[in-house]
Amino acid sequence: MASPRDRLEAVEAEEGASRRGCLGVEVVFPSDPAFSAPLCPHGPTLLFVKVSQGKEETRRFYACSACRDRKDCNFFQWEDEKLSETRLAAREAHNRRCQPHLSRRQCVERYLKFIELPLTQRKFCQRCQQLLLPDEWGRHREHQVMGDISITQLRRPSQLLYPLENKKANAQYLFADRSCQFLVDLLSALGFRRVLCVGTPRLHELIMLTASGDKKSNIKSLLLDIDFRYSQFYMEDSFCHYNMFNHHFFDGKAALEVCRAFLQEDEGEGVIMVTDPPFGGLVEPLAVTFKKLIAMWKEGQSQDDSHKELPIFWIFPYFFESRICQFFPSFCMLDYQVDYDNHALYKHGKTGRKQSPVRIFTNVPRNKIILPTEEGYRFCPLCQRYVSLENQHCEHCNSCTSKDGRKWNHCFLCKKCVKPSWIHCSICNRCALPGHSCEGPKDGCFICGELDHKRSTCPNIATPKRANNTLFFRAVRKQKQRKSNKMKMETTKGQSMNHTSVTRKKKRRERAHQYLCS
Ligand code: SAH
Ligand code: ZN
Ligand code: ZN
Ligand code: ZN
Ligand code: ZN
Repeated sequence: MASPRDRLEAVEAEEGASRRGCLGVEVVFPSDPAFSAPLCPHGPTLLFVKVSQGKEETRRFYACSACRDRKDCNFFQWEDEKLSETRLAAREAHNRRCQPHLSRRQCVERYLKFIELPLTQRKFCQRCQQLLLPDEWGRHREHQVMGDISITQLRRPSQLLYPLENKKANAQYLFADRSCQFLVDLLSALGFRRVLCVGTPRLHELIMLTASGDKKSNIKSLLLDIDFRYSQFYMEDSFCHYNMFNHHFFDGKAALEVCRAFLQEDEGEGVIMVTDPPFGGLVEPLAVTFKKLIAMWKEGQSQDDSHKELPIFWIFPYFFESRICQFFPSFCMLDYQVDYDNHALYKHGKTGRKQSPVRIFTNVPRNKIILPTEEGYRFCPLCQRYVSLENQHCEHCNSCTSKDGRKWNHCFLCKKCVKPSWIHCSICNRCALPGHSCEGPKDGCFICGELDHKRSTCPNIATPKRANNTLFFRAVRKQKQRKSNKMKMETTKGQSMNHTSVTRKKKRRERAHQYLCS
């Protein structure tokens, strides 16, 4: 079981995808309604196509939707590949073997037994990440086992479990208390009574804690997450084992119905979805999934409410703004910087990146959202919204224009505000980093190969059914792999790549990077 894509790498991806070469893998969503993809242990696979220099390679393939690393799920099948009965049967057996050994029901029964135990008999195996019943102690004798698990600890599983931080496979970045509390207070101030937590276990747990505490906020929460370890701590109506890259409920119809009932309660009134997916360029499959959840919510609405939207908080780095807004035009980005516990680079005050690039994208009107002044936000009366202190109102743009929390400057030639590090270049006729290469991007757009724009503004991206999602990471890794294979090959052939050609390539890549990514 693995949740994919690492947040930090996402930043690097934004900054480096093009630097490392314009080679991508895109997801394709066939329009045929009868289409069904082959299954891996993580549910329906996605159909990918390799793209290099804007040209699609013709042979498409299926691969796991959730795991970036082949080591976590090695599913691979060419689109036109025919499998023998034997191989299909072997695959089915493999998929079954990979499922958790306990059903959701069994997990709940274990949990109920566990809380009945006296404190001294409540043990948790740190190696297996599992609550132990007395008859299981023997099998874990050699493992590191914690005793005296209190009810308080059981209510904070995200502190008991270690975050799945493996860079390649799992990426669990837990909210810092401050950000988590901010979210709970905000949700409660906005009057929400139910929160669908998609990939936000710590938020889920804080909501549940607040609801059971004396403050009696009475907000209900349902967690959908691929991390099965959480199933030990929650009843069936507050956790579903779920893959958000293909809208797959591991426990089938029963779990789907839990989610449906949750969304449709009170005719869909008072519910919000909050999601904090692993970053990594898979925006389109996520958008497809969220639209399915939205549709599920809509089914429960009466006719005259049909114009309403399901309120959503989508937590993601600011540089995905254009991508997210392509799929959800009603979404705005808030200035609030979301902080994480276990991500050194994303925490305030650490060396390196001092600010978190992670923001909240939402269709909740921005004027309803109060950001904490003690954390450095202020209300802009002209924009009628809270912005970060450094984000100054530009009278020429008539808005607070900064996207990244730094003060941006207005350029009269470009007629817009630009990053503080940029200067206007008379050759390129636009603002750019000083020292950029005026020849423009050698390799062109990551998606279509044209030379006059970059990936994020690619006009070809908007075509509705032609998915243009760029799986930077696979591409980058594949390219690295290919490169190292090539090097290996060339060395064995006795004609190792000469040094100057390597540096020349590197220079070229750096130049492209400067242009595309500053
Ligand atoms: N900041 C959040 C955690 C975000 S980390 C919090 O503190 O609550 C991303 C979360 O998404 C993790 O909990 C991870 O288990 C989950 N996740 C990763 N891949 C997933 C997938 N394919 N489907 C569903 N959940 C996934
Ligand atoms: Zn898989
Ligand atoms: Zn303003
Ligand atoms: Zn301006
Ligand atoms: Zn220039």
